[in-house]
Amino acid sequence: MARYTGPDCRLCRREGVELYLKGERCFTDKCAIKRRSYPPGQHGQGRIKVSDYGVQLREKQKVRRVYGILENQFRGYFEQADRQKGVTGENLLFILERRLDNVVYRLGFASSRTEARQLVRHSHFTLNGRKVNIPSIQVKTGDVIQLREKSRKIAVISESLEAVVRRGMPQWLELDKDTFKGTVKNMPVREDITMPIQEQLIVELYSK
Ligand code: SF4
Repeated sequence: MARYTGPDCRLCRREGVELYLKGERCFTDKCAIKRRSYPPGQHGQGRIKVSDYGVQLREKQKVRRVYGILENQFRGYFEQADRQKGVTGENLLFILERRLDNVVYRLGFASSRTEARQLVRHSHFTLNGRKVNIPSIQVKTGDVIQLREKSRKIAVISESLEAVVRRGMPQWLELDKDTFKGTVKNMPVREDITMPIQEQLIVELYSK
């Protein structure tokens, strides 16, 4: 499946906000946006007037990049969110949050969503006791995600589990570190998504 392979930090600088795409590095002084807080490229430091459309577009790109989703799939998620009951923008965020790769990241098994996706692809987890390798699977209440026995000595996973305390665990998930088991206690709510996101701008963009 196609994916973005360019420099991650460039995406943060483009959006003007930390998207936390590079794991632990994002929490150090090496973070590119801390050193160069202007957009990348020749005109990055120039004064640019942004239209309403530009603001909406940037918000959509930001969310897409946080979760590592390509345009077509993102649009598909929006259409799915729009068909559901409730607030479309929030529905969209909940669909993104419930992706298995995001849940693996939130549980602390990986230091970034990219790493989480790779771990899922390489079949390091089971979902309700069955091996899985599809990062886009939507989890539901009561689902159990567990690191497979053979994968429990992987260094990046143990290091990431050590660091999860700093990142914090959302209330809708629960981790048992001894058994490497994560449980979906309930569905996410808007307050669980702490990143500054104005989802209404995405709805306005796609509703044009
Ligand atoms: Fe973004 Fe992380 Fe790079 Fe900082 S280190 S610019 S937060 S990807």
